[in-house]
Amino acid sequence: MPTLRDILDDRVREGDRALWEPIERNRIRCYACGHCCPISEGQSGVCKVRFNRGGKLYVPFGYVAGVQCDPIEKKPFFHAFPGALAYSFGMLGCDLHCAYCQNWVTSQALRDPDAVSLPSEADPEMLVKDALAQGAKVLVSTYNEPLITSEWAVAVFRLAREAGLHTGFVSNGNGTPQVLEYLHPWIDLYKVDLKSFDDRHYRELGGRLQPILDTIQSLHRMGVWLEIVTLLIPGFNDSDGELRKLTEFLAGVSPDIPWHVTAFHQDYKMTSPHDTRPADLLRAAAIGHEAGLRYIYCGNLPGRVKKFESTHCHQCGEMLIRRSGYWIEEYRLTAEGNCPSCATPLPGRWSKKFDRQITSAPFLPHKHVQFVKIHTQL
Ligand code: SF4
Repeated sequence: MPTLRDILDDRVREGDRALWEPIERNRIRCYACGHCCPISEGQSGVCKVRFNRGGKLYVPFGYVAGVQCDPIEKKPFFHAFPGALAYSFGMLGCDLHCAYCQNWVTSQALRDPDAVSLPSEADPEMLVKDALAQGAKVLVSTYNEPLITSEWAVAVFRLAREAGLHTGFVSNGNGTPQVLEYLHPWIDLYKVDLKSFDDRHYRELGGRLQPILDTIQSLHRMGVWLEIVTLLIPGFNDSDGELRKLTEFLAGVSPDIPWHVTAFHQDYKMTSPHDTRPADLLRAAAIGHEAGLRYIYCGNLPGRVKKFESTHCHQCGEMLIRRSGYWIEEYRLTAEGNCPSCATPLPGRWSKKFDRQITSAPFLPHKHVQFVKIHTQL
């Protein structure tokens, strides 16, 4: 029985030349994420899934480790096609190793022996066909870090675009100019997880702060629709000073970028801080508001965060989209995406009309395409 490593080493293709180059001593440099690993012959990068074989970079291709349909609000995108269904797919591996990861079973595969998630055979046609059959409007690369599997995402997104679907990344934002240029023609929506505003915290998670800040600035400049999430972890990233710097940075890029500040619950290896309370989220929201952000959302504690689940016009205060958790209770935008009271545009990506909410809960898309698991030695 092959091991997971054997299986993944077989499901690869040569990396796109926009994302790597040969360097001295038969090594190559990968540009798919901010680590920019120099990789020696026979070795893999920090993510463990991109490797140098014979002086060429090989990258993951032809499998999925997770597929699920969710309300787009769960990604979370609150300013893009409200009520639509997002078809999510993911592979294995990550370039960071956050102790509180909620997707650690897929992200830490090959790094943590307890992270066991069987991949299934897949090709881009299967995924797009399944997404259409389920009624999805958006295809999202998520669960593992999508930057490290960018070639696979672009292969899927090319077909998705031909089929009239929108595309998105749910990512840690540890990008490079090369990978963002590579993705730019194929991506509509991008969620960046801005985990902290302290470089020392990022180093604990296996990264650096600056590449994430550069990614946020670049995506905004490129016109990709961008939303930011910060999981508020008591004692880790929730001091007033850090939140002030973080939100002032975002407002400096654009006050129109939605900021989701979400509640932590104990997970994976991070089991000591207490769970985030509603009052913690509301304090963070007040700091973001003071910094100038116009659209702030408090997540993971539905019904306990006052007005911060819904969208209001920043000009006149009118309620525009009322939510409860992932459920849309009321939608009042005009066909042009404006406030019905004062005609101020709401930044985002809007359909001409609200098509209705398709679902308020995630579900597995198993009826139309049967994904075949690849069995490995565990
Ligand atoms: S994706 Fe990032 S971690 Fe993986 S090999 Fe490339 S630069 Fe290194």
